[in-house]
Amino acid sequence: RADSALFAAKAAGRGRIHFFDTQMQGRAEERLDIETRLRRAIGERRLHLALQPQVDSAGAITGAEALIRISGDEPDWMSAASFIPVAEDCGLIVDIGQFVIAEAGRILADWARTPDSRDHRLSINASVSHFQTTDFVDRITEMLNHHALPGGRLRIELTEAVFALQGDTVKRTMQRLRELGVGISLDDFGTGYSSLAYLREFPIDEIKIDQSFVRSMLDANVIDRRLIEVIIDIGKTLQVDVIAEGVETQAHWDRLKAMGCRYFQGYFFGRPMLYRPDTPMSSER
Ligand code: C2E
Ligand code: MG
Ligand code: MG
Ligand code: MG
Repeated sequence: RADSALFAAKAAGRGRIHFFDTQMQGRAEERLDIETRLRRAIGERRLHLALQPQVDSAGAITGAEALIRISGDEPDWMSAASFIPVAEDCGLIVDIGQFVIAEAGRILADWARTPDSRDHRLSINASVSHFQTTDFVDRITEMLNHHALPGGRLRIELTEAVFALQGDTVKRTMQRLRELGVGISLDDFGTGYSSLAYLREFPIDEIKIDQSFVRSMLDANVIDRRLIEVIIDIGKTLQVDVIAEGVETQAHWDRLKAMGCRYFQGYFFGRPMLYRPDTPMSSER
């Protein structure tokens, strides 16, 4: 949007500079508004996790991804995509992250009590800025100990932006997580700082094919299809799990399976559903 506003300003000449300023100011106000509402929501304990199922090639549930939601506000403000970037800028992401870790513990403890879900794995998203705080691993450790949970039940999703940080620190944090048995998943894979060397050098357990590739996979877009195949091959070579996100149709699923993908997540199997204890996670398909 920033690009198109700039383009409009340029195309129309000086007369439109004012229009551009107004737009920028509008965005700043919008961010401040989001920040205010976010602070209020945190204060009023209106953060929740929604769970979206992850399945294997047979369609059996293997676990879920936890996605943050806010209740009691306008529905159009519910998308994490709209407030996570603001939370990252204003530092609230650390509070959100602590909430997510604590809540993940509750969910995993609930799951552990039910035979059907005992082996399920929960993936949580961690912002790079939270991941690099010194007590990130301590919080995870405390949470696992508190509920007497094996680390293998938990996976941390990080974007490739993590590789822009100081490599040694990132590697040490990942290694400490691995010692706990906690998995590392690379989210939105293929859209960021991809490097084959990182995949080899860092203890990564899973890569998530970004949903943008899946979305265009069945178009005439041969390139995106090939890219998916390449990502699946990389996963096989490096022996990391590969999961496709944004699987919305049977055709997506069939095609991805034919390409050798083994794990799947998307609206076809289930939308993110607010977590309530005692309600078993079910596929909506
Ligand atoms: P993500 O981790 O890549 O999550 C996938 C996003 O795609 C989610 O949006 C999910 O609702 C949506 N999605 C799932 N299946 C489909 C599908 O089949 N089709 C389409 N079109 N979309 C699908 P959401 O919940 O709005 O989250 C957006 C992003 O916000 C996430 O992307 C993640 O980067 C971030 N996020 C969400 N929860 C958290 C959190 O607890 N902590 C942090 N740090 N970031 C979070
Ligand atoms: Mg994710
Ligand atoms: Mg993703
Ligand atoms: Mg994302």
